Amino acid sequence: MFREFFLSGGAAFQEEVEICHPSYDIVCHIDFLFRGKNRFHVVEMKSTGGIPEEPYGSWVDQLHVQMGLLRIREGEKAEIGGSILAVDLNKGEYREFNSYAPHPEVFTPLIERGSHILSAMRGECEPNTIPSILCGHCSYRTGCPAHRDQEIPQEVTDRVADYESLDRQKKALEKRMDPLKKELISFFGERFQGITETGIAVATTTVAPGETIDSTRLKKDFPDVFQACSKPKAGYTKLEVRQLPPAPLAKAA
Ligand code: SF4
Repeated sequence: MFREFFLSGGAAFQEEVEICHPSYDIVCHIDFLFRGKNRFHVVEMKSTGGIPEEPYGSWVDQLHVQMGLLRIREGEKAEIGGSILAVDLNKGEYREFNSYAPHPEVFTPLIERGSHILSAMRGECEPNTIPSILCGHCSYRTGCPAHRDQEIPQEVTDRVADYESLDRQKKALEKRMDPLKKELISFFGERFQGITETGIAVATTTVAPGETIDSTRLKKDFPDVFQACSKPKAGYTKLEVRQLPPAPLAKAA
């Protein structure tokens, strides 16, 4: 689809461009490489379910490897840029994360990491673990040393902060909504269905009073009945986030 977009825009580009590192067995494949006179632009396509606010660290690392290998191939004088095009095919949405440029300070450690992985694959050393948000999809998550040591990478720290902030906003909104809800119910009554002038549908319904079982008492007074009527309930994982107060400042000596 994007190939057609680019073609219709008259852009000059190549697809699936393979570049090999001159010294290590490291190869990259550039999805789209646009070129002008001594100017290059790398586009890495990512199809994803839900486009993140910021690109994943692994996406950015991949782009830096591509731009770094291109820099080696084309030389220092070449003007090189890069972007990540994230596409959510289910929702039909896309977002471009742009303005990346090659940096030796980022590229060199990534090549060192790649070379370390190759050594580990040859059985020459134990592999280092580098946790990221993608650990949730890793089949080695259980028992991984990075998780045993509870390392929290920056991209996960950022998401925790986002979640905590949204959770606070949700609670603040609920506080504002509750009195409004009471006012509206007392205006519309127990049964209403209508539409405001501005096109907002409103309905009130009333749930009739009923009875419920006191399970604590049932378990205590009629354990056999409780046992006979019990059925397994699936467990789930709770997530709780809370901003802690700042640590008190240490007293000056
Ligand atoms: S769980 Fe461990 S091995 Fe798997 S990706 Fe994360 S850090 Fe790497």
